[in-house]
Amino acid sequence: MGMSVLIEAEAFEDLGGWVLDQQFMDLMGSPFLLAHGMGVPVEDATTHVHFQSGGRRRVWVRTRDWVAPWKATGAPGRFQLLINGKPLRTTFGTEGIKWHWQDGGFVEVDGKTSVVLHDLTGFEGRCDAIVFSADLGWKPPEDMAELESFRQSSLGIPAEPVDAGEFDLVIVGGGVAGTSAAVTAARLGLRVALIQDRPVLGGNSSSEVRVWPQGNLNHPPFPRVGDVVMELVPKRQANSANGQAAVVFDDDRKMRIVKAEPNISLFMEYRMNGVSTASGLIQSVTCQNVRSAHRVSIRGRWFLDSTGDGCVGYLGGADFEQTERGHMGASNLWNIKCLCDDEDPLSSELQAATQNATFPRCPWAVDLSDKPFPGRTKGPQAPTAGATPITLGNWFWENGFDRDPIHDMERVRDMNFRAMYGAWDAIKNVENRYPAHRLNWVAYIAGKRESRRLMGDLVLTGEDLRSGKEYPDGSVPCTWGIDTHHPNEQYSKGHEGNEFIASATQGEGFTYKQPYWLPYRCLYSRNLGNLFMAGRDISVSHEALGAVRVMKTTGAMGEIVGMAAAVCKAESCNPREVYTDHLQKLQEVMRVGVGRIHRQTLKPTGTTELMGDTAAARGKMVRYETTHKSLGYWRSKDDYVEWELEVTKPGLYEVRALVACMEGDHGGNYEIRIGQNSSVLGGKIQSTGSWTVYKEQPAGTVTLQPGLQRISVHNRKEVGPLMKLRSLRLVAK
Ligand SMILES: Cc1cc2nc3c(=O)[nH]c(=O)nc-3n(C[C@H](O)[C@H](O)[C@H](O)COP(=O)(O)OP(=O)(O)OC[C@H]3O[C@@H](n4cnc5c(N)ncnc54)[C@H](O)[C@@H]3O)c2cc1C
Repeated sequence: MGMSVLIEAEAFEDLGGWVLDQQFMDLMGSPFLLAHGMGVPVEDATTHVHFQSGGRRRVWVRTRDWVAPWKATGAPGRFQLLINGKPLRTTFGTEGIKWHWQDGGFVEVDGKTSVVLHDLTGFEGRCDAIVFSADLGWKPPEDMAELESFRQSSLGIPAEPVDAGEFDLVIVGGGVAGTSAAVTAARLGLRVALIQDRPVLGGNSSSEVRVWPQGNLNHPPFPRVGDVVMELVPKRQANSANGQAAVVFDDDRKMRIVKAEPNISLFMEYRMNGVSTASGLIQSVTCQNVRSAHRVSIRGRWFLDSTGDGCVGYLGGADFEQTERGHMGASNLWNIKCLCDDEDPLSSELQAATQNATFPRCPWAVDLSDKPFPGRTKGPQAPTAGATPITLGNWFWENGFDRDPIHDMERVRDMNFRAMYGAWDAIKNVENRYPAHRLNWVAYIAGKRESRRLMGDLVLTGEDLRSGKEYPDGSVPCTWGIDTHHPNEQYSKGHEGNEFIASATQGEGFTYKQPYWLPYRCLYSRNLGNLFMAGRDISVSHEALGAVRVMKTTGAMGEIVGMAAAVCKAESCNPREVYTDHLQKLQEVMRVGVGRIHRQTLKPTGTTELMGDTAAARGKMVRYETTHKSLGYWRSKDDYVEWELEVTKPGLYEVRALVACMEGDHGGNYEIRIGQNSSVLGGKIQSTGSWTVYKEQPAGTVTLQPGLQRISVHNRKEVGPLMKLRSLRLVAK
């Protein structure tokens, strides 16, 4: 061992077109590089090694044949290793179900040596690490514990992680839930550590997974719950939907808002993989940088598990439940694009094709040449009614219903790849459809729906939702149906045990009166005294998870946890005591909220501006405008425009709004919510058939006190016309 050199693939100087995959590192020992080329070999990854002495070395590469679990024909993940520009004779990625060291034979090295990973297929080849051993008869360890100590000694990783300080709230998992919690707690004055194992925030709603956040927020009696979430999630646009272009998911927005909070210390690309506890409390978590393997220990008074998988709770010994069989699966969304450079990535035959995009046959993928799947419109089977390109790669491409959602996850992700490549192979090479299209984007980060659920003082059930059972600590508004998934029988035949298309429960028996207020007691662990939960790993049954798991809802959980942590700090108590002793205090914070919606984009034009109105001339008018022409547009009940205004004089104000709705729509109602106690005023517009004709309307009057007030304008209908707000005036009466 002392005569060997270990190179971690993820630490290469230049990753080329290979991507870093950290998803399974707790299971197989390390992040690795993936040749995710969608059938086109990716650019080489390159690094250099300095050997102290030249001579003969034996080379080992840690890899696997990723389709071996299905005994599939061929090995799609093939790649080569080039040493000083010359390929080794072995082709890697060709054998073994499990991760293992594949023998690369012998090579002569001398001084500075270049090492290159050269992908041969573009079909998901994977490399964890490379070893050069001067002891030609020695093999690196396969046993996970021995491998870990080999890694640590080879890379010079200290036995003890570096102390990264102590925080009030340590948040693990930077999805919508964790990020909302971080912003909320930071604004309430807590020192926060936010740990995320990817380079972007947002989890499933990031550009890496591309799930559009759903759920309705801002409901009375706590209309301010949801403000932070609405700041963080991307703004709705015409193409806001699952699997759309990266820009739709606006990763920058989340990062910008988090970075604006001086109380947040961000640990990006750190994977939490160790928890230390004492006397039923978490003391610290250990996190590993997914590129450099640098390890830090982060201490805290309270911890939040927003990992989705309940990673913190699991490692700390929290009670949890997991549905072993018949749970929801994971998806890797994907989309296609025409080479004709059409704006719409899903455009198809309408666009004249000038070029053909070929795609290789995939004998190792799921053979769908004579089987139905969503999106198939031609071929030997009867076409699927209503199929369009958008049915390719959407949410229902899901598998893993009966597999362990943690331990079998690499296999589940890879099965999604096999189904997707099989479908595209059938479309391109059997149906000969979409000749000018190529695979445009495929998520390699799996979008997960269900795994561990950490148990709190209360476990919410589907029956609670259906019966509308009220709890005194109701704190998170739930508005999504009881939507659980199972294999879709229409597409299951011939794929038993490997079903990859889901259908969802909906309709009678799966609805409830909305909003349903999820109790705070689902948001902390019943046996780890200082652990909160937010996201899909909270204390609910499998069925209730179907309703609470959408991301504006999980974000609101994060807000409540951020607020509860502030109460914990103020009262020097733990999460349970917030319920038993300080619930009123939590509810006070929930009433006020901590959002700062639109603060940057709106600027007052002053109180003295003349509007051709005598009130203004007397200086009583207050008018606010955005820096943009329109204040924003929105369509459904959960979208709205909102901003703050400074009321300088108390009194009665008339609110006047200029709202337009889009051509083709038939007019609609809107409501204006105003003031800390949310007075609701009404308004009605009739469509004039165009965006361009407006008529200012009085919406009602409201008494306002001096200070910062919030105004928001909402649709009244669940899904109404596309609305646009041009201006809003307050005229002192
Ligand atoms: C295909 C699909 C479609 C869906 N459809 C919708 C929909 O239309 N609308 C909707 O709102 N919801 C939808 N959902 C559900 C929703 O996306 C999930 O429930 C989501 O996981 C909830 O958000 P979260 O913040 O709890 O978790 P996540 O978004 O999963 O965030 C958790 C984050 O923690 C990080 N993490 C995990 N472990 C660690 C660790 N050990 N150390 C550091 N970081 C870690 C992860 O990388 C991730 O970024 C869908 C889910 C899927 C998969």
